[in-house]
Amino acid sequence: MSKPVPPTGTKRICTECAAKFYDLDKRPIVCPKCKAALPDAVAIVS
Ligand SMILES: [Zn+2]
Repeated sequence: MSKPVPPTGTKRICTECAAKFYDLDKRPIVCPKCKAALPDAVAIVS
């Protein structure tokens, strides 16, 4: 039994509304705030 890992994906910033969110490793990337499709969403490295 392995513990379930919360799906977080890569932290990104929306190029449309500047919201920060996790892409949950889904493709295409869609901003959860403005629903914009973000094929080139910027990954936040911190
Ligand atoms: Zn957005």
